[in-house]
Amino acid sequence: MKKLIYLDHAATTATRPEVVEAMLPYFTQNYGNASSVYDFASKSKTAIQHARKTIGDALGVPDRDIYFTAGGSESDNWAIKATADAYASKGKHIITSKIEHHAVLHTCEYLEKHGYEVTYLDVDENGIVKPEDLEAAIRPDTVLVTIMFANNEIGTVEPIKELGAIAHKHGVLFHTDAVQAFGQIPINADEMNIDMLSASGHKLNGPKGIGFLYIRKGIKIGPLIHGGAQERRRRAGTENVPGIVGLGKAVEIAVATMKERAEKEIELRDYMMERIMKEIPYTRINGSKTKRLPGNVNFSFQFIEGESLLIMLDMEGICASSGSACTSGSLDPSHVLLAIGLPHEIAHGSLRMTLGEDNTKEDIDFVIEQLKRIVGRLREMSPLYEDFVKKHK
Ligand SMILES: *Cc1c(COP(=O)(O)O)cnc(C)c1O
Repeated sequence: MKKLIYLDHAATTATRPEVVEAMLPYFTQNYGNASSVYDFASKSKTAIQHARKTIGDALGVPDRDIYFTAGGSESDNWAIKATADAYASKGKHIITSKIEHHAVLHTCEYLEKHGYEVTYLDVDENGIVKPEDLEAAIRPDTVLVTIMFANNEIGTVEPIKELGAIAHKHGVLFHTDAVQAFGQIPINADEMNIDMLSASGHKLNGPKGIGFLYIRKGIKIGPLIHGGAQERRRRAGTENVPGIVGLGKAVEIAVATMKERAEKEIELRDYMMERIMKEIPYTRINGSKTKRLPGNVNFSFQFIEGESLLIMLDMEGICASSGSACTSGSLDPSHVLLAIGLPHEIAHGSLRMTLGEDNTKEDIDFVIEQLKRIVGRLREMSPLYEDFVKKHK
């Protein structure tokens, strides 16, 4: 069997063995319901408190403001829908960007069907939301600005602190989907003017189906999931104790190793971008060269289809993506690539590779050799490329 080279860490990551180990006792031994009164259940309660503290510390916020959810999508839905609901008497206008994850975009579209107005801000050619555009879009009836911390397709890191400051200057709440950024780059929610922040376990080597929403004290949003009194009456449902413990452990490790991982990934990322741009003609890099997640590369190769490229890479044991996992499988080009101004045919020839700490330079050298070969072959088969070559001879 071929060696698997996993370059899709923005889609999901492996749960670390230390994380699994930390979780196991909470399935079989300490399985008590954290809401029960007997002493046995207090083990679950203590474990939840410990994880909450780890996460609060990581974000520089009080741990009581961390609320566990079933992942990034739930956190985004909760922040947006519950804010819309709670502040409807003030206004029904929400501002977001055109490059958000579907968990944000589809939630906003849902609200549009229910009497809310949404402004979708443009981004520049690198995928950056311009602070002056946000300033201009804020209205007296704006109740929420939601802008992602870092983009899942092109890795662009947004000027969150500045955007948050603008929202606050106008008395508007600021939410950020930090699912791609949390655990990868430093975030201090308080210093960065963030009122609400979504994150997810499985994007930072934690388990799937667990995440959290940070809600700054004083924000009066109600629950999305109604039922029992868990999570200070804001998120019902018996706590996913193993998941919460796993998330806490993953965050602890992510914080402790962040600097070292980022340095290593940036080195590999830049090496990859430099060699591919040099060795494969008619290629462009999507996203910002400087304001970029450590592990993200995204290219468009002219004259080819990203889907064919993915299939041929897969035959070599290489896992990559042509956009977001949710975009793959549909024929529409990625909304993010269109928003940064790529024409459809260029957007179709795009490839995202996202690095993790286990990727090595040898892996990357192998991937680059395969890419050169595969892009060359696909171009040989492309009538567009044939026309292009004829015209330029
Ligand atoms: C993966 C992702 C989500 C969804 O998180 P889940 O935990 O899979 O629900 C939301 N936003 C961004 C930016 C993501 O990358």
